Amino acid sequence: MRILHLDMDAFFAAIEQRDRPEWRGRPVVVGGDRGGRGVVSAASYEARRFGVHSAMPIAQARRLCPPAVFVPVDVPRYREVSRRFLAILRRWTPIIEPLSLDEAFLDLGPGGDGPQAATALKRAIVSELSLTASVGVACNKFLAKLASDLEKPDGLVVIPGDRGREFIASLPVRKVWGIGPRGEAYLHDRGIYRIGDLARVDPDILRPGFGRRSLEIVQLARGIDHRPVEPAQPARSLSEEVTFAADTRDRDALLAVVEQFARSLEERLRESGLKARTVTVKLRLADFTTLTRSRTSAVPILSAAQIAGLGQDLVGQVALGGRRVRLVGLRVSGLVSQGAPEQLTFSFDPALAGDERGIPTMHAEYKRKMQSLPFLWQGRSGR
Ligand SMILES: [Mg+2]
Repeated sequence: MRILHLDMDAFFAAIEQRDRPEWRGRPVVVGGDRGGRGVVSAASYEARRFGVHSAMPIAQARRLCPPAVFVPVDVPRYREVSRRFLAILRRWTPIIEPLSLDEAFLDLGPGGDGPQAATALKRAIVSELSLTASVGVACNKFLAKLASDLEKPDGLVVIPGDRGREFIASLPVRKVWGIGPRGEAYLHDRGIYRIGDLARVDPDILRPGFGRRSLEIVQLARGIDHRPVEPAQPARSLSEEVTFAADTRDRDALLAVVEQFARSLEERLRESGLKARTVTVKLRLADFTTLTRSRTSAVPILSAAQIAGLGQDLVGQVALGGRRVRLVGLRVSGLVSQGAPEQLTFSFDPALAGDERGIPTMHAEYKRKMQSLPFLWQGRSGR
């Protein structure tokens, strides 16, 4: 069994409870805006016992569960945890298909030991993220996803290779991919309630209701699913940018931002198992003129010191002529896998001499600058 489906338990709510110990053991509902409108994005297991579930209006959740703590959604924070979650998975296999921030399929490849990997992954997630995941192990995606859902939270369900069909026979037909409320009603009208019932049906009989999908639906009910785990397209570039609340002509401030971004980019490259050849700096001026400067290194680079070194040189090349800057961006591209050869042919600003991990210690002066610069908007992207 080489296919795994991992699903973090009550992800957003669990992160909130992890970071606010006084909320542990209490019902926590994440969602809505600060005014308390909107819908539930996630509910802790304590809140679910009151009948609260995601996509429910917040107002209804308040009526169902008066003692709950209601927390607004903090996607950047959840995204950060998600990146670390995916980085843990990547240690086992590069064949990972994320479905959302907290869910992914893994293909361990021929001979992969699913149960062993699942146990190790669960342990790593607890020890490194202080969160739990439920894992399904099976011979295909459909079965693995069903399995991960069977013993939530903190579940581990292994479906042996030859027992898929019997394992899922008693589950409701609604659990089959592609069967929504209308499909379910259609099947119920024909006396088909369980996956096991559906598995015995001639697909042609379902054609009026499901059209060309009828064969696939019956195949899934029989535990057959040939879809491969499709890894997300590798990023072609990673970038960070910031728009200042007030335009600045302070060059040291720009250098400080570049240094900060270089650290973040190193971390993101490491997590993705990549190095970069090209560093690009983007400066948008107060009048919205945008200047970009790039430099490509002969060998792929990874460390924040190298990225910052190039980026800061590039900033130095731009003649601002007293004009103010409203946005700074730093991008790395020409990404290659970390297995590619590397040799250090750069000389660095000695002031950026690194700590023991080779990451530059930030100038105290830069740090002060960073803290004194309020930003309007900060973003990142990987394309
Ligand atoms: Mg989840």
